[in-house]
Amino acid sequence: MSKISVIIPMFNEEKVVEECYNRLVKNLKKMVNYDYEIIFINDGSKDKTFELLKNIASKDKNVKIISFSRNFGHQSAVTAGLKNVSGDAIFIMDADLQDPPELIPDMIKLWEEGNEVIYGKRKSRDGESVFKLFTAKLFYKTLNALSDVEIPDDTGDFRLVDRKVVETINSLPEHNKFLRGLFSWVGYKQYSFEYERQKRFSGKTKYSLSKMVKLALDGIVSFSTKPLKIVGLLGIIALFLSGLVILYTLLSFIFKWNHLTAGWASIMIATTFFSGVQLISFWIMSEYIARIYDESRGRPLYIIDKMINFDK
Ligand code: UDP
Ligand code: MG
Repeated sequence: MSKISVIIPMFNEEKVVEECYNRLVKNLKKMVNYDYEIIFINDGSKDKTFELLKNIASKDKNVKIISFSRNFGHQSAVTAGLKNVSGDAIFIMDADLQDPPELIPDMIKLWEEGNEVIYGKRKSRDGESVFKLFTAKLFYKTLNALSDVEIPDDTGDFRLVDRKVVETINSLPEHNKFLRGLFSWVGYKQYSFEYERQKRFSGKTKYSLSKMVKLALDGIVSFSTKPLKIVGLLGIIALFLSGLVILYTLLSFIFKWNHLTAGWASIMIATTFFSGVQLISFWIMSEYIARIYDESRGRPLYIIDKMINFDK
């Protein structure tokens, strides 16, 4: 019998634990042809989350818990879940029921039809602040402008993935995994559907501003080295300005415009010219750093899905 796994990271979610478990089980039980497991990751919660989870796990053997020694963050929690799943179809969901477990049966149907990464695009985001909506939009726009892989906007980590895809992600040697980017980067048969993102069931968002900034930087830095190259552009602009200043100084010398303050030209030429030279030198170094960075991430050059007619 095939098995469904659900991965749920939790950080201070005591108010949603019970409801989350109940709604999940209700929907998982509808899938009569499947076994299931639910893996809760307690990401260093300081409230009663862990006690409540232990209580559930003592009654239901399909519930597994991974508990971190402190708060390591959402992406690390999901990564730990992925490393320890045993199912064939793996769901990644938030604890707060913003991604409704009622979608499980439909998503499983899509998986049975052969799709390997099934992700929800948020058609609406109920109950989220204007600030969150604005920063999220800005984040996806910037990320896509900079990155070499298409990362679908308005997509969080809510998705159903095939075991094969999870194994690929697990085999990537890089440490700091920006999962929603990698799930897109690995390829395979992707399917997106739209859904209404619900209000958080209870409690407040666990993504503080500093965590959002870290996530955004991880996303940009792990999928793009373009920011390193921007210094090159600045250098070229500085040198161009320097050229204009030199030209202007020469012309004023030839045509005896004597409104230039003494020393103006030498200072302007020195600052613009040398900042240009420095920035271009930084740029050259950045090109090396970018390549070292690419190598050190150790991402494979390609991922093979199937090979046909090869001898084993
Ligand atoms: N989360 C976590 N560690 C953290 C922050 C969040 O495990 O450091 C979990 C949180 O419990 C929830 C999920 O990640 O299950 C998404 O967080 P949240 O719903 O607060 O984010 P939002 O939906 O507001 O972006
Ligand atoms: Mg949420």
